[in-house]
Amino acid sequence: MNYDRILIRYGEISTKGRNRNKFISLLKASIQRVLRDYPNAAVEADRDRMYVLLNGEDGEEIAVKLKRVFGIQSFSLAVKTDRNVDEMKSAALKLFSRIYEQGKTFKITAKRGDKTFQLNTDEINHEFGGYLLKNIPGLKVNVKNPDINLQIEVRKEAVYLSCENIRGAGGLPVASSGKAMLMLSGGIDSPVAGYLAMKKGVDIEAVHFHSPPFTSERARQKVIDLSEKLAGVSGAITLHIVPFTEIQQLIQKQIPENYTMTTTRRLMLRITDELRRKQGGLAIVTGESLGQVASQTLESMFTINEVTDTPILRPLISMDKTEIMSIAHSIDTHDISIRPYEDCCTVFVPAAPKTKPRREKVQRYESFIDFEPYIQKAVNDTQLLIIKPGFGNEAEEIDELF
Ligand code: ATP
Ligand code: MG
Repeated sequence: MNYDRILIRYGEISTKGRNRNKFISLLKASIQRVLRDYPNAAVEADRDRMYVLLNGEDGEEIAVKLKRVFGIQSFSLAVKTDRNVDEMKSAALKLFSRIYEQGKTFKITAKRGDKTFQLNTDEINHEFGGYLLKNIPGLKVNVKNPDINLQIEVRKEAVYLSCENIRGAGGLPVASSGKAMLMLSGGIDSPVAGYLAMKKGVDIEAVHFHSPPFTSERARQKVIDLSEKLAGVSGAITLHIVPFTEIQQLIQKQIPENYTMTTTRRLMLRITDELRRKQGGLAIVTGESLGQVASQTLESMFTINEVTDTPILRPLISMDKTEIMSIAHSIDTHDISIRPYEDCCTVFVPAAPKTKPRREKVQRYESFIDFEPYIQKAVNDTQLLIIKPGFGNEAEEIDELF
């Protein structure tokens, strides 16, 4: 007997009280996205779990894809049967025969969601254990460490048989926690930061600062390709490409060299915050990791962060580069990130950026210039792209809104 469904258990969703329905419908939408290539499969949502009804589609293939869906705590390939002991036995034997290999051990784990069922859990374990031992020659019980743990779950409406609990990605369903702007550079860190924010249900819009002709079309394409990977998680990503050349040249001219990096970051943050306000976001996400480079010391963050009171989420703050790189590999962004095209910060990086920039100093340097019209112009000239997953790698193919 083949599995006929996948039983999906929610993670933190269960604790969300009144938001529960919203969470469930967002999770359902995420799962439906995964099932797009499997037209016969359907999703059924219950109060405390979901089922993917396979209707002949390949359960194991779908399971691989479900492992990446945020909001799923665990799932199992399962078979549904009626609450009739003979039918249950025959279904258990068919399922078991399919997965059993000579020499494997087993145990039965019964769970009774409905106490009116005629057998209690001990009786189910006993009855079904005995039945399988009788029908499969050579089969042995191992209660502590079995190769196969046949779970028999009795519920009001039916009985579900399954053999393995597969761990899900955890987190919260995509877009269940409100919107934030992700500062996306093209480096290794920021796509990982975006992914981790998405894991907790943050609805991400990406913002990239671009300084042509100092930064190339290929650097821009890199960010489009990274956004495409992130879009694989959420279904689509809005990408804002901010023209930053004029401001960077102004900074080079007007700010003492060892403070140019600090002012550049402050302006990037002001512009991102302006875009956030326009788009109705509630936070900004960055790929900063404490102490990694001059702009990421606590003193730098203290001075740069001064320009906004919007929450800044830094999912990588305490991670080491090796940990970040291993996530980048697993989400398939690493090889895009290491393409050797420079972004605007690398091009204009001063020889000796201040690692402990002071607020009073940068305020004084910036006080001689009115940046506001430049910020407004950059915001107005920002290009907006909607990036969809698997859309191909050509910038021209992207829907441009304006
Ligand atoms: P990353 O690998 O994400 O580029 P990094 O280690 O190179 O990070 P920085 O260059 O100091 O670190 O950048 C810190 C953060 O600032 C980035 O993670 C990103 O969130 C943001 N950032 C840097 N450059 C840009 C850019 N051109 N456009 C948008 N955001 C940027
Ligand atoms: Mg970088």
